[in-house]
Formats: sequence, C-alpha cells, structure tokens
Amino acid sequence: MKLPLIIENSPLARLARLKLGTRSVAMVLGNKIHLSGATREEFLNDPYWVAHEMEHIRQFEEHGRLGFLRRYLLGWMRYGYYNIPFEIAAREAALLNAPLYTRGQPLPNPADMHQGPKAKL
Ligand SMILES: [Zn+2]
Repeated sequence: MKLPLIIENSPLARLARLKLGTRSVAMVLGNKIHLSGATREEFLNDPYWVAHEMEHIRQFEEHGRLGFLRRYLLGWMRYGYYNIPFEIAAREAALLNAPLYTRGQPLPNPADMHQGPKAKL
C-alpha cells in the first residue's frame, strides 16, 4: 500500500493540535499527511492511525479539496469534532483497515491506538 507524503513538524498540524488540545495530531491536506507532536516513525508504527488518515485521504479524493473542507467544517459546526461524519467514518476505517498498514509487524491492541480528542469541540 503506497503511503502519501508525510510532513513532520507541520505548522498547520501544530495549529490543529493547539486547537484540539491533544498531544499529537495528524492532519490530511490533499494527498499529504501533516504531523505535529509525533514523528513519522511514531505515526507509521500505529497502523490504526495510518488507516484513519488514509480514510481522510480517500474522502479528500472523493469530494475534492473544497468539497471535503466545506463538509468537514459544516460537520464540525453541527455535531462537534468527534461526531463529524468524516471522523466517524475514519474511526471505523481505522479498525477495519489497520491490518493493511502493519508493515509486517503484529497488529497492536486497538486499545493502544492513537486517540484523537473525545471532547465536544
Ligand atoms: Zn480524523
């Protein structure tokens, strides 16, 4: 499975991290994954996290950059971050598709996957 470009120490991801109040953030913009608070290795070592972000890449491709961002922000305003339909779908995809991204390692316990914000933001 080909991975997209991964950008470490992304200022945009840092803004998202501060807004969400989480230790680390991965954020998809187009076909790139922006990281803040996590290294590329830490990200790639969590197949659930990779599968989650790959679902956002798929959503981005399906809806286009503006279509994705518009729906994402509307969903955020209506339902809060945790219940954005794109986030619900990405959490489901994380569990379903993680085996594709294990890089030959055993699948970790889902309880240990990277946790995004739970609070209503
Ligand atoms: Zn997400």
